[in-house]
Amino acid sequence: MNLSSTLCMPRSSRALFVLFGWLFAAACAAAEIEVVASFSILGDLVREVGGERVAVHALVGPDQDAHVYEPRPSDARRTGSARLVVANGLGFDDWLPRLARSAGYKGAVVVASDGIRPLSMNGSDDHSGHDSSAGRIDPHAWQDVGNVRTYIDNIAAALAAADPDGADIYRGNAARYRAALDALDAGIREAIARLPKERRKVVSSHDAFGYFARAYGVRFLAPVGVAGHTEAGARSVARLIAQLQREKAPAVFLENVSDPRLIERIRSESGAVAGGTLYSDALSSASGPAPTYLAMMRHNLATLMAALEKQ
Ligand SMILES: [Zn+2]
Repeated sequence: MNLSSTLCMPRSSRALFVLFGWLFAAACAAAEIEVVASFSILGDLVREVGGERVAVHALVGPDQDAHVYEPRPSDARRTGSARLVVANGLGFDDWLPRLARSAGYKGAVVVASDGIRPLSMNGSDDHSGHDSSAGRIDPHAWQDVGNVRTYIDNIAAALAAADPDGADIYRGNAARYRAALDALDAGIREAIARLPKERRKVVSSHDAFGYFARAYGVRFLAPVGVAGHTEAGARSVARLIAQLQREKAPAVFLENVSDPRLIERIRSESGAVAGGTLYSDALSSASGPAPTYLAMMRHNLATLMAALEKQ
């Protein structure tokens, strides 16, 4: 519509036209950068750095297991139209670059874990389920808060490259969040230091806490390998129960993404205490105890401490 036709409108229509024009301009100014992240924990980290400038969608949502994810058609649509796609890497979400390519996403898939020191699996023989190209690298790097500093740096750099106008905002958000991570990291170290060394060992459902173990010195045993959906063999379960009894591991924990039946059986056969639920590979829903990464790590620490401090 040109200016002369606007001027020919009745006065009330003209006012309406101006109002809509203003609303349209306001909506454009607040346009969000659409980001797709592979899973809920990563989605939360992108949200922390992106703030109000970004709209983040996590393909694998709260309490869902990324190890067994199958893309839906709606996921391909979202990924194809995203400004930025962020993966964990380390073999956790190898499906995402494939999905992005087939959905027509033209940008680079950012790997949030780039630059961390990867951990190989602990060498027990029941780890399978990851494809051979990923080898035996443990993908659960976010369980070490130090690694998440690297995630945040990578996410901030990727957002700034995708949206240069927001670069200062992303840098500021990242700096603030890094301070929260530092406090969290120090809090975990202080709490674990209070535990007698012989009580710093637990059993959980799948091998998701290797990085936590390396960073904070709590030993985790698990009946199932790095990808939680693999079947635990009868022999490895029997071996774990024997090890539990021999080493007197004080507590056994459920995980939000794993079937509780196996770990319940291990608990009852070994006589260990049920320690509660740890959040390993996914956040909880908004109403649960772990709706953000920071809340998740605090919840896991509190859950571990409550069980391990008991004499
Ligand atoms: Zn896992």
